Amino acid sequence: MSSSHVLVLNCGSSSLKFAIIDSSSAKEHLSGLAERLGEASPQIKYKVNGQKHIISLSNGDAHEVAINKLVELVKSLKLDQQLVAVGHRVVHGGEHFTKSALITDTVLEAIKQTANLAPLHNPANLLGIEAASAAFSKLPQIAVFDTAFHQTMEPTAFLYALPYALYEKHGIRRYGFHGTSHYFVSAQAIEQLGLNDKPSKIVTAHLGNGCSVCAVKDGKSVDTSMGLTPLEGLVMGTRSGDIDPGLFAYLVNQLNYTAKQIDTLLNKESGLLGLSELSNDCRTIEESAAEGHEKAQLALDIFCFRLAKQIASFAVPLGGIDALVFTGGIGENSDVIRASVLEQLSFLGFKLNNERNLAARFGNEGVITDGVSVPTALVTPTNEELVIAQDAAMLAGEQ
Ligand code: AMP
Repeated sequence: MSSSHVLVLNCGSSSLKFAIIDSSSAKEHLSGLAERLGEASPQIKYKVNGQKHIISLSNGDAHEVAINKLVELVKSLKLDQQLVAVGHRVVHGGEHFTKSALITDTVLEAIKQTANLAPLHNPANLLGIEAASAAFSKLPQIAVFDTAFHQTMEPTAFLYALPYALYEKHGIRRYGFHGTSHYFVSAQAIEQLGLNDKPSKIVTAHLGNGCSVCAVKDGKSVDTSMGLTPLEGLVMGTRSGDIDPGLFAYLVNQLNYTAKQIDTLLNKESGLLGLSELSNDCRTIEESAAEGHEKAQLALDIFCFRLAKQIASFAVPLGGIDALVFTGGIGENSDVIRASVLEQLSFLGFKLNNERNLAARFGNEGVITDGVSVPTALVTPTNEELVIAQDAAMLAGEQ
């Protein structure tokens, strides 16, 4: 039996996504989600050998209980003997981490220090690390950071035009997120387009509940749309993306908003949901727009317009665009959004092939332009879990 199986954990504040992946063959032996942790009726849903199962937990059971149940499950499935490492998704690595890291006391301390930059995410990631370190005490624990891929950005791309001291003293700068996904799909595109060892200018569009685009030059991130937090940039499911920062003072002074209310407004009540007054779910928006729901159509139009503008702007840091890669739940499935964006970018030379675009969904990957013109547009399913498994297996092997 192979000895490169990795338990991959992605721990949110009330959820825990997990998978056991063979980092050599990319085969997934187990996958699942513990949800409503710390709340009423938490449960673990998992899939093994194509069969779905549910384990009910008691009200209020949180991450530690879920991880202990996961240990029991892994043992009962006899998957524990082949595990070589546990790989953790960590959202914010600040400037400490330019690549994945074996979790030592020093690394743990650095992740804790970065928590003020990602108060919603890093504390949850730390819960997962602590629970898994106790439960799988013999296995190396590895952290894989969403921000690491973007650490190659130059100051021209990562600094805000704010007093420099805010960066020097407080680390206020653009970091970017979804790095694991941008790395994976850009590497796949470089391979697929035969651009290995050649100069390459790729824009990757990760479009899911969160959305970001990345400019990848010769395999390295040179710019991305998210910033200090995952709120900057594109229109998303419930996030506004870019707004005039003057809005803050207006909301405070004229409408008596508090900082917390503004945070909730911009992160939870805006984006597709705020504009459509209907849903944050792109499928619902598309279906309703097709049935004549005007605000759903408007939300969709604004989403595509802002996305197309952002992609075109990356021709500047890249010096042109060879290829555009769509990924994430929306990027991999929405032919409507892909068609609208490529239509708006036709001045750059994109020539959509309608049949290919319609066929590219449900994990179906491939080129969706005519295959002759440049730039090329592709659909590439992301696989962040595989990158985490591969990095974890590699670092475990180096110990
Ligand atoms: P993710 O965060 O990557 O899981 O992506 C979630 C988003 O993908 C949600 O907005 C879904 O509505 C959207 N999505 C999934 N399938 C489709 C589809 N067939 N058409 C349009 N959007 C989809």
